Amino acid sequence: MEEMLRSFFLTLAKNQSANRWAKRYGLRLGAQRFVAGETIPDAMQAVKELNSIGMTATLDHLGEFVADEAEARQSATDCIEALKAIHEHEVLSTLSLKMTQVGLDISRDLCMENMRSILDVALAYGIVVNIDMEDETRCQVTLDIFDELRKDYPNVMTVIQAYLYRSLDDVLRLAGEGASLRLVKGAYKESEKVAFPDKADVDSNYIKMMEAHLLSSGFTAIATHDEKIIHHAKEYIANHQIAPDKYEFQMLYGIRANLQQQLVSEGHPVRIYVPYGNDWYGYFMRRLAERPANVSFVLRGMVH
Ligand SMILES: Cc1cc2nc3c(=O)[nH]c(=O)nc-3n(C[C@H](O)[C@H](O)[C@H](O)COP(=O)(O)OP(=O)(O)OC[C@H]3O[C@@H](n4cnc5c(N)ncnc54)[C@H](O)[C@@H]3O)c2cc1C
Repeated sequence: MEEMLRSFFLTLAKNQSANRWAKRYGLRLGAQRFVAGETIPDAMQAVKELNSIGMTATLDHLGEFVADEAEARQSATDCIEALKAIHEHEVLSTLSLKMTQVGLDISRDLCMENMRSILDVALAYGIVVNIDMEDETRCQVTLDIFDELRKDYPNVMTVIQAYLYRSLDDVLRLAGEGASLRLVKGAYKESEKVAFPDKADVDSNYIKMMEAHLLSSGFTAIATHDEKIIHHAKEYIANHQIAPDKYEFQMLYGIRANLQQQLVSEGHPVRIYVPYGNDWYGYFMRRLAERPANVSFVLRGMVH
């Protein structure tokens, strides 16, 4: 049943008509729990609150699977606005974005042009930009883009998903090159041809990737809410004396706030992924897929 619901929400996540509806009608259905608001002032407010309790942030101006050039250029402008806000408000935050948000599905050249204009501003302000990882069909091209951009921009990092069979090899290669990575389990609907169908395999692959990358010269963002993995990470970090400037824990806005706070109180660096904007629909559906019990938020949202 849980697998059916997961698959249902991940299919819904790609429904364009529902996405258009969501953009028109604003944050609904309980999505406010996972999304900081629709505007930059909303996002700044959330980041300031996180900074005040000892956490850093990574801002995500929501958007993905853009099929129109003007929209892709607008997304790049929105990302630059977010960077300016981070700089002007002097908050502790990086920026996260997706390649399909800045035009990858239209042309790689458009995507690169947009990425370079975003990274130029980020580099001037000393802000790190994290390229989120999308579905498997876009994984290789995203890594190719990352490899190319990394030559010119030391402030760029990307994400590797433990559910893909290929990922341990990707981590080992990138670790050898000292690349900074965020490690996640993976949030998209993937076939057994490319991804582990069993959660236990995903979890054990996550641990292998994490251990390998923590010992490399690259920065490791351990992005999970999984208490077992976090416990394992803490022991590994202590046993191998990994310095606090070599790693951080990352979690999503609105998820496991108690665990976030606990890690801060234990002295670990913690960064929270803060999404904002009106393109919240796909992001919200993926959060429902991860934990179908979250559907109670949808039901409450409908009642209100
Ligand atoms: C900072 C950050 C950035 C991310 N970036 C990407 C990315 O670029 N690409 C990508 O594919 N995925 C990304 N993800 C999502 C990730 O792939 C997982 O889908 C998500 O983190 C859930 O997996 P988990 O590691 O928390 O473990 P799980 O085993 O799924 O969850 C462990 C526990 O966490 C809690 N939990 C997890 N999800 C939820 C939820 N939605 N609502 C309420 N409780 C929940 C539950 O208590 C659950 O038992 C990101 C996640 C984080 C934290």
